Amino acid sequence: MAKTYDVVVIGGGPAGYVAAIRCAQLGLETACVEQWINFKGDPALGGTCLNVGCIPSKTLLESSEQYHHLKEGIESHGIHVEGVRLDLDRMMARKEDIVLQLTNGIGALFKANGVEWLQGHGKLLADRQVEITHRDGSTDVVNADNVIIATGSVPIEIGAAPVDNAEGVIVDSTGALDFRQVPETLGVIGAGVIGLELGSVWNRLGAKVVMLEAVEDFLALADQQIARDALRQFKKQGLDIRLGTRVIATEKTGDGVKVHFKDKDGDHEIVFEKLLVSVGRRPNTDNVAAPESDLLFGERGFIHVDEHCGTNLPGVYAIGDVVRGPMLAHKGSEEGVMVAEIIAGQHGHLNYDAIPWVIYTDPEIAWVGKTEQALKTEGIPYKIGTFPFGANGRAKAMDAATGMVKMLAHAETDTLLGCHIIGPYASELIQEAVLAMEFNASSEDLARTIHGHPTLYEAMHEAALSVHGRALHKINT
Ligand code: FAD
Ligand code: NAD
Repeated sequence: MAKTYDVVVIGGGPAGYVAAIRCAQLGLETACVEQWINFKGDPALGGTCLNVGCIPSKTLLESSEQYHHLKEGIESHGIHVEGVRLDLDRMMARKEDIVLQLTNGIGALFKANGVEWLQGHGKLLADRQVEITHRDGSTDVVNADNVIIATGSVPIEIGAAPVDNAEGVIVDSTGALDFRQVPETLGVIGAGVIGLELGSVWNRLGAKVVMLEAVEDFLALADQQIARDALRQFKKQGLDIRLGTRVIATEKTGDGVKVHFKDKDGDHEIVFEKLLVSVGRRPNTDNVAAPESDLLFGERGFIHVDEHCGTNLPGVYAIGDVVRGPMLAHKGSEEGVMVAEIIAGQHGHLNYDAIPWVIYTDPEIAWVGKTEQALKTEGIPYKIGTFPFGANGRAKAMDAATGMVKMLAHAETDTLLGCHIIGPYASELIQEAVLAMEFNASSEDLARTIHGHPTLYEAMHEAALSVHGRALHKINT
């Protein structure tokens, strides 16, 4: 007879594995179905994020930044280094080692919490039955009082540039995390988050990088004042970012790929050694639900859910990249916690207005809440406070005194509505604003909080002071 679980989670990425752990913590008998096969040919937990996303990309960003810094950024400190040499094999081996440590760590967490890992492809049938197809083709069916679908996302493909990671010339992010030689030239279609992060990695390691972006607005989701600063700084670093370009076709040549594209000046072609296609990701719903399950899909293939991630079927939830909202690991994980707590009879909740975004370029870009352009469009009255890292002692000492903090507060209530940072450790600094927004803080609350000296956080403090024209280390306008 088919076994019955309290909860079966389909997908073991940051949304699914966190949901499974939280369910088990709450005393629910939980299984997680996961099909991933890693670069060693072994079954693995952790999903896109740990295997081919957040973790390997941040590992290479860190390694390439250290290399670049030693080559070009350290002379100003009075340190002269000679003979800096790249060992790409070692860099890649380090990345793989970190990925294995973390993905194996999820297995250990499952064991410690009593989550059962059912290896294979999961498919929702009618009445909360889940069919599991194993690697050898055999199938099992289990019953669940609750099912959580967390099947993630996959790269969007475009007809003009078909990806073949195995061949390694036109690749998606997975291929571009695994080049075994630094390409002399790298074309990137799409100057979004992946394009900028992986373009930065290969630019720092010596590739000439050209980015072909369809829309005219750079980083359209970000605050446009910050985006303009970012564009200026990235161009200075040698990233050749061409906005308003349309790729028409690609053609493999003996030593790379010829890309035909159009912009306002006409038709062009460039030959690249490698081409990265990073034009967004789409929900992964391939064969995830049998038609008789009656699971409802919504816009652009996402599984339709309410604000608590409930689908149209009682006891069936969906979380992470496979549902609406930003495709970010922490958003999926928090949805996992919320759903687990709801299943356990608690009041699970997620504040979708306080989800931080981070782009791990140099300088880093991070934000939370509304952009200035959104406040204008929505007619919300606001005040702005800004502070440049150029006037921050710690940033100067680090030789990283570029960029700024920008805070947006409601003009009448002073509630913090958004915070936008471009500069050193923006990824870490943004958490102060996230916490402030979670507690409905005002800019005055931040302005009256003591910040250690000398720290980068003083730029947050000064930006909050600047909302009311009383920054202490800049001339208020
Ligand atoms: P996934 O991580 O995609 O996991 C889904 C899992 O479900 C996979 O393991 C898959 O094998 C499994 N699965 C799918 N279908 C089935 C099935 N039918 N049966 C069994 N198993 C199934 N986000 C950040 O927040 N910060 C970052 O720095 C960041 N960097 C990124 C860098 C790159 C290069 C990429 C590609 C993404 C990055 N992201 C980042 C996005 C992040 O990886 C995703 O938002 C996150 O992984 C989504 O989590 P998830 O659990 O919803 O889906
Ligand atoms: P993206 O949405 O960030 O960027 C895609 C870019 O491609 C956009 O600027 C879009 O205008 C452009 N584009 C679309 N079609 C095009 C075409 N035909 N020609 C040229 N340009 C085109 O998507 P992504 O960079 O692929 O990343 C996918 C998602 O993964 C991100 O949205 C994010 O949610 C997640 N991610 C997050 C991080 C992070 O948090 N640091 C890092 C990497 C990925």
